[in-house]
Parts: sequence; structure tokens; C-alpha cells
Amino acid sequence: MQIVKNIIDLNNTLKSSKKEEKKIGLVPTMGSLHEGHLSLIKTALKSCDEVWVSIFINPTQFNDPKDFECYPKDFENDINTINSISSKINLFIPESVNEIYPDDITVDEFELGFVNKVLEAKYRPGHFDGVATIINKLFNIFLPQVVFFGEKDFQQTLVIRNLIDSFFPNISLVICPTVRNENGLALSSRNKLLSVNSYKNCGIIFGCLLFAKENYLKTDYADLLNIIKSKIEKINEFNLEYFEIRDEITLEPFGKSNNEGRFRGFICVKVEGVRLIDNLLLD
Ligand code: AMP
Repeated sequence: MQIVKNIIDLNNTLKSSKKEEKKIGLVPTMGSLHEGHLSLIKTALKSCDEVWVSIFINPTQFNDPKDFECYPKDFENDINTINSISSKINLFIPESVNEIYPDDITVDEFELGFVNKVLEAKYRPGHFDGVATIINKLFNIFLPQVVFFGEKDFQQTLVIRNLIDSFFPNISLVICPTVRNENGLALSSRNKLLSVNSYKNCGIIFGCLLFAKENYLKTDYADLLNIIKSKIEKINEFNLEYFEIRDEITLEPFGKSNNEGRFRGFICVKVEGVRLIDNLLLD
């Protein structure tokens, strides 16, 4: 395994890989790696000659400074975890924010359209501008053939799709299924911030998505929302930020225009103030 910490070394390393025409796969992460991340990495290992995992907690995608400050960090453990699955994986861990943002820590401008107006974008203004900024930088640095992202952050995959269609037509996007714990809770680095008791109750989030899948066609939308809200909020320290059903490509709301698309339930629950998101295809 090689660990590269700055762009100059990275460019040198990548130069020889490009010369050898290796198929490069990139898995961007913010670290605190769990089985969800590892599933992306294992998928990448199966189809690429060279796999790069980046670990960088990108400041520009945090709209809340406290969230950025509290975001879990465990680089040493991440390195050991990566090493334990394969010695063939390459890690890019920028040694400072300056490597990625040499001038100012600011976002670049992207026209992301409607995807940048609803759901996460509405509750975390500027979040996807930060995501697009870092991903655009990483894609330009690595020029990978394939990139791997998780269905867990479904709206994010639409942002990446948009970026690829606009600027990186040669990159293939692979979306890997959400990895869950035994209660159905989607694995997330943020789960580490929860108390033991709340963590045990988090299965209700996926439970609500399954409930929606079962009932959305036969229940009035407002009633469905009320039922989900009461299921969530009867648990101490659980607050529903949103539950919405939207077309999985356009993100248009279910029931507004024609209903011929494929619909997905999107949920965000604040558990002890920690935002947990999840989604499920309902069709
Ligand atoms: P993050 O470190 O949270 O930025 O996530 C890095 C990548 O891992 C993103 O593409 C996420 O969508 C993906 N990911 C995070 N959690 C999961 C999960 N439980 N299952 C599958 N992919 C995930």
C-alpha cells in the first residue's frame, strides 16, 4: 500500500500509471471508514488495475462549523483497515487543507440545477457546492476511468452525475448499494457520534422507509408523513427533519406532475442533534 500526502508526489505516481495505461478507480471518502466505504473499495478492486482511496474532510461541504469540528477522524485506524483488505490499495491523504485549497477555502461555481434546491440542499445550503468543488478537484487530479459512490447519499450521486455529464464524459460512475447494520441502519461515520441507546433505536429510520414503500400508493401523502413523523418523534431525542417522496432522476415531488417515474423515499432524522440520512427506492 502506498500513502501519498501531497499533490506533487501524487502527480508523479499517477504519471507512470497513466503511461502504463492502467485503469484507475477512485473512491473519494472523508475517512472514519466502515463497511459501507469498504464495499465501494472492494467493488473498485474487482474492476480496476489501480485503486485510489482519498481521505479528506472537505471543509467547504459543511454548512455548520460545529458539524465540521465534530466530524469523526481516525486516520491511523483507516490506514490499518485499508491495509487489512488489500495491500494493492493506494491512499491519498492530503497533509493539509492547503494541498487542496492552496489559495482560499472557497467553493467553485457549478450549475447544478434543481438537485441543488431540494432535500439536503434545502437543509444544508451550500453543501452540494462544496461537494461539487472537491469532487471536481479530485477528478481533475486523478483523471480516473471509474469512480465509486454510495447509494446511501443518493442525492449526491445525482450531483456527481451532473458533474460527469458536464465536464468528465470519459469517467464511468458506479453506484454501490447501501450497507446497513443488523437493524437496517445505514452505516455512516456519523453513527459514532450517537449514544449507545439512540444507536439501538436507529433501526426506525429504515423501518419508516420500508413502511413508506409498503404504503405510499395506498395512503394519502399527508397521512403517511404524519405516521412517519410520529413513529420517529415518539423516541426521545429523535426529530424528523424531512421525509419526502421524489422522482429519483428529476427529484420532482411525487404526485405533483405525472407519476410515471421511479420514486424514492428520502429521509433525514436528527438523533441527539446528529443528522442521519437514508433513502430507498419505493417502486
Ligand atoms: P463519506 O466518507 O461519508 O463522504 O462517504 C464516502 C463514500 O462512501 C460516499 O460515496 C458515500 O455515499 C459512501 N457510503 C457511505 N456510507 C455508505 C453505506 N452505508 N453504504 C454504501 N456506501 C456508503
